[in-house]
Amino acid sequence: MTETTARILDGKATAAAVREELAKHVAELHSKRGMQPGLAVVLLGDDPASQVYVRSKERLATEVGFRSIAYRKPSDTSEEALLTLIDSLNNDTNIHGILVQLPVPSHINETRVLNQISPEKDVDGFHPVNVGRLVTGDKALVPCTPLGCLHLLKQELGDLSGKTAVVVGRSNIVGKPMASLLLRENCTVTTAHSRTRNLPEVCVQADILVAAVGRPNFVQGSWIKPGATVIDVGINRVDAGKGDGSTRLVGDVDFEAAVNVAGAITPVPGGVGPMTIAMLLRNTFEAFCAQTRMPYPLDF
Ligand code: NDP
Repeated sequence: MTETTARILDGKATAAAVREELAKHVAELHSKRGMQPGLAVVLLGDDPASQVYVRSKERLATEVGFRSIAYRKPSDTSEEALLTLIDSLNNDTNIHGILVQLPVPSHINETRVLNQISPEKDVDGFHPVNVGRLVTGDKALVPCTPLGCLHLLKQELGDLSGKTAVVVGRSNIVGKPMASLLLRENCTVTTAHSRTRNLPEVCVQADILVAAVGRPNFVQGSWIKPGATVIDVGINRVDAGKGDGSTRLVGDVDFEAAVNVAGAITPVPGGVGPMTIAMLLRNTFEAFCAQTRMPYPLDF
């Protein structure tokens, strides 16, 4: 069999194009109507990874022209104080999107906090109202990572109707909403997980294979249908093999093998990762349009 090399789906470039498009609309809004979308990000504690994520969200939100406000609170902030802050943001007409950076400290009930965010401002798409709307096919704010995956898939494949899709992973933030989105696009969807039998045989049926497992290089080249489109959501830090303790990022798919079988594949890093914040900004803009009763002008 002759080996082919898959097209690399460049999430970095696609995310930059999304931000550019958003920035154009936001600048026009500002100059013509003096309006500006506002995003509030709440961070509790000093987890280094969360701090990096929040800084990126703040910086990119500002770059596209949003009013971006980060609330950094100590890790011993009470749940009541956090709920009060969320209430005040829910009532602030200058704020159109609210997100609480996860994970929250263990003394705080994450579900209670996420449920306190107004569904209209829930730009992470985690509120049960948005989860329900996605499943029923109503207009919803959709979790950013699977929305970013869908954007890459549509850009590569156009109409997804009738395609066989397998999503490996069933988390609330990636796997389940990804499956719902693919179903909404008229794919025939299988959700696989740790109890799935004969996983390789399930995966090899897929025209679209999404891996959201959290295990380095888990999906093997032999599990991939030749020509399939592979979306690797995983972000795993592994030893770089240089003997100096340095690390590197790899996905959930064995990229070196998969690239010779798949038709197209996202790299790690530079695939799904950059799309997540781009979709957060997109969601904030959509929330802004809905709250200010303006038509949403973008086609993604
Ligand atoms: P979770 O740990 O919440 O879910 C992992 C899923 O993988 C579970 O549903 C689990 O099944 C399934 N799984 C675990 N082991 C196996 C196995 N041996 N065979 C089949 N399925 C298995 O992870 P997340 O969904 O939060 O994240 C997945 C990956 O995506 C991680 O690497 C994470 O870092 C990355 N990620 C990347 C983002 C980005 O922006 N690019 C954003 C969010 C996550 P079960 O339910 O049965 O336990």
